[in-house]
Amino acid sequence: MSREDCPSRKALVFLGPPGAGKGTQARLLARGLSIPHISTGDLFRENVEKGTPLGRTAKAFMERGELVSDEVVNDMVRERLKKPDCDSGFLLDGYPRTLPQAEMLKGFLRERSYGAPLVVNLGVSYTEIVNRLGGRRVCPVCQRTYNLVTQPPSNDSVCDDDGAALQQRQDDREEAIRERLSAYEAQTAPLIEYYKAQGNLYEVNAERGPELISDELMRVIRQ
Ligand code: AMP
Repeated sequence: MSREDCPSRKALVFLGPPGAGKGTQARLLARGLSIPHISTGDLFRENVEKGTPLGRTAKAFMERGELVSDEVVNDMVRERLKKPDCDSGFLLDGYPRTLPQAEMLKGFLRERSYGAPLVVNLGVSYTEIVNRLGGRRVCPVCQRTYNLVTQPPSNDSVCDDDGAALQQRQDDREEAIRERLSAYEAQTAPLIEYYKAQGNLYEVNAERGPELISDELMRVIRQ
């Protein structure tokens, strides 16, 4: 069977403001479907950590909570999606974030004979976002995400899975949060209408517990 005929070949896209729980849900779902979870934020953070040229380009934008340029992000994503582990599908988390990125994805999927993506929008109110981002802590080893108020680790400030000390992301500080939310409103929110018009959008109320949301998503995607 050629790659194009594979019935489980799915391109999934997670949309939603920062703090909507995209990372948590994307990790669960990708594991359940055995497809790679591709987070552009994680790819940039890895590059920053390793000090690569890409990481050096992205670092200042990320610390200010601004978007990295479309050209840089699109090149990085295109290279990642060409890897063989994406042949039977993939889940994009944090991409696309602008209309030019959505157009690049559309062209890529068409070129490589994927169907239209299934786009999931995780909806959360502004107040909830600010509360969530302020309390967010991330394991630097496995990237598991906690919230000190709503999803605390069992032991104070260390990861339940590997015991590493949890960290607060630079861009979860108040000033950067404000900048990220305004970037979201101006550049990413219009993608909701873009995908709605194409009939590819599934909207989820993401103010509920993570298990309820992931059960709903798994049902929808398996249908
Ligand atoms: P995230 O972890 O998805 O919130 O991403 C962290 C930061 O990485 C963002 O605030 C941006 O600076 C950068 N970034 C991640 N994905 C993108 C994207 N699709 N377009 C532009 N910048 C991005």
